Amino acid sequence: MPNVTVPDHPLLKHKLTLLRDRYTPTAQFRQVAREISLLMAYEVMRDLPLQPIDIETPLEPIRTEILAGKKLCIVSILRAGNGILEGMLDLVPSARVGHIGLYRDPVTLRPVEYYLKLPSDITERQVILVDPMLATGHSAVAAASRLKQAGVTTLKFVCLIAAPEGIATFSDAHPDVPVFTCAIDRELDEHGYIRPGLGDAGDRLYGTK
Ligand code: URA
Repeated sequence: MPNVTVPDHPLLKHKLTLLRDRYTPTAQFRQVAREISLLMAYEVMRDLPLQPIDIETPLEPIRTEILAGKKLCIVSILRAGNGILEGMLDLVPSARVGHIGLYRDPVTLRPVEYYLKLPSDITERQVILVDPMLATGHSAVAAASRLKQAGVTTLKFVCLIAAPEGIATFSDAHPDVPVFTCAIDRELDEHGYIRPGLGDAGDRLYGTK
């Protein structure tokens, strides 16, 4: 069974419905994408390790907990990944950020990297790779491979909607990388769109269509 988590929460379902609705305007789409991404960040960071710390409340000393261990890096697959990135940064503003740009070669149909910028200490960080739509899975597979090549050892992938085909492709290539998605939709159509989906995530985020 692939390593996939679909968090069951009414707020996620409600916000995903707003994103799916073709009549949701661009500004609201972007805002809701930000909100839903914050909620997904909460889910994906559930297993972050804690360490004890001694502090004082205004009334007395207390031994309590803070985040321990590896720091975070969020890597956005351009351009639609940026719609998720912002909400995650709302929750963990100190996380570092990486970007990876991929385009589809018209002949081979394989993803080709055109941009890569990662923090220099990325090998010491837990990395969360983000892209709203896991469709064919080819971009996510290529991005995860590139991050592993750069030395990343702790990696998770977060999207908003996944196609069964994309999950299969990604999990075959990266069985060690957990996938978090708000929904698994019915299928990919012949144009590579997820059905029922939400349309082109980049266009809906940035009003380019
Ligand atoms: N990318 C999108 O933005 N939407 C899809 O349905 C598939 C890939």
